[in-house]
Amino acid sequence: MNKYDQGLMWFRRDLRVEDNHALSSALQACRRLWCVFVFDTDILDPLPRADRRLAFIRAALVELDERLRALGQEHRTDHVGLIVRHARAMDEIPTLAQRLSVQAVFANHDDEPAARARDAHVLGALAHAGIMFHGFKDHVILERRELLTQAGHPYGVFTPYKNAWLKTVEAQHLAPHPTAGHAGALAPVPTEWRGPIPRLSDIDFEDNASASLKTATGASGARQLFEDFVQRIDQYEQTRNFPAVKGPSYLSVHLRFGTISIRQVAAVAWQMHLQGMQGASTWLSELIWRDFYHQIMANFPHAMEGAFKPEYDRIKFEHGKHAQALFAAWCTGRTGYPLVDAAMAQINQSGYMHNRLRMVVASFLVKDLGLDWRWGERYFAEQLLDYDLAANNGGWQWASSSGCDAQPYFRIFNPVSQSEKFDPQGKFIRRYLPQLAALPNPVIHAPWRANEVELAAADLVLGQDYPMPVVDHALARERTLLRYAVVKKPGKLPT
Ligand code: FAD
Repeated sequence: MNKYDQGLMWFRRDLRVEDNHALSSALQACRRLWCVFVFDTDILDPLPRADRRLAFIRAALVELDERLRALGQEHRTDHVGLIVRHARAMDEIPTLAQRLSVQAVFANHDDEPAARARDAHVLGALAHAGIMFHGFKDHVILERRELLTQAGHPYGVFTPYKNAWLKTVEAQHLAPHPTAGHAGALAPVPTEWRGPIPRLSDIDFEDNASASLKTATGASGARQLFEDFVQRIDQYEQTRNFPAVKGPSYLSVHLRFGTISIRQVAAVAWQMHLQGMQGASTWLSELIWRDFYHQIMANFPHAMEGAFKPEYDRIKFEHGKHAQALFAAWCTGRTGYPLVDAAMAQINQSGYMHNRLRMVVASFLVKDLGLDWRWGERYFAEQLLDYDLAANNGGWQWASSSGCDAQPYFRIFNPVSQSEKFDPQGKFIRRYLPQLAALPNPVIHAPWRANEVELAAADLVLGQDYPMPVVDHALARERTLLRYAVVKKPGKLPT
């Protein structure tokens, strides 16, 4: 017997039907179920009008709608599909729930502070109307306070967290939540909410943002990427640090928007890890980093605003016109350090950046240019297709040494040696900086070291075709060590 006569499933960062925890529970709990996605104006209004993420989300919604429709048809129900609204989600969900006369709303957890505030508001409004709100863990394997130290505190250091994670996780944590077999509960969309998924221009965004989307979209795209990655997962350990090589999975945007289930991919990696496959073990570790940063966000929300270690908020970063000019050079890939500039070209052109390069450019911004890590964090938040507050904040605080388990502040990447080590033949640099393509390998990492003959042969005029370095790494390093010395001094913490 169903617990509820009518229910509403609210999709957010879980844009798939298969193995969706909230959807599975809703289908089993309700006799009739509607599904909704809200283009939330609270999130969308501040965004630029040509945002690639909107194109990705729209493509995912088209597939989600088709899948729901197909399931409806399998159960001989016409007009099943996704209701799509463009409104303030915190107002729209309670309104829709009342207009549909549902007794319960179902959604998967979203632990970003703004999302939690929104959900608290929705829960209050629903409760006021006598409607239940059910939340489910779906986005990570272990969440919130599920994994604690022996002293009962959330973990702040990765390695013990990972060891505890591996000891705790069992097959039941990775088991799929079935949906297709229960899809008979999907109800026809009432006439007033029927219709195709809105175009981007219908929600005040530019339709041509889709043209700059260079990744496979939707649950089908995620499936293809994962199948392709599983074929080469055993080489992950050897290839993952080389941006010119197809080493990683490229699944981050799909994990971000839930077009693939984290349980599905983690279960495959976990099984291979248990069989002793090194590549799979290393990849599983990356998925555990993802859980780790999500539990940091859930348990230490202050770190989303400032340094995790508050003494790092004492550091005085560069500011003023010169700092702004350095920041502009970094954003536009004109620092004169080829690996940094090629990486920035990658993010600007595609919305993706290889993990090794995220570490290199983040370190460069903070420790070579002396700029506040929050500037870089914000720029990544605007550009990344896979932007995820927990992982992005974690990555930036790791690079700036202010994070929970960050690299020590005196460890400063040398952008030239990183380039020599991880792009030894300059293949990645040549892909994104064609003006440097004809430089010989030894100087492509540092064009200012090229002699006149090499520059002439490459038809390159430094300062004209490609910038001279905006900072001297050795001097910048010394300045950073001085700047960071403040974290060693005892003193009053900023209030
Ligand atoms: P793979 O190597 O195939 O890894 C598999 C998955 O593991 C990724 O899709 C991702 O979900 C997760 N993962 C991998 N590395 C990390 C990590 N260090 N922290 C948390 N999760 C990880 N990742 C994001 O998803 N969104 C971000 O906004 C983001 N910002 C970052 C900012 C900085 C400064 C740094 C250093 C890292 C950031 N990362 C972020 C982590 C990492 O760079 C990306 O997840 C990865 O490059 C995505 O490519 P992939 O899917 O091919 O990764």
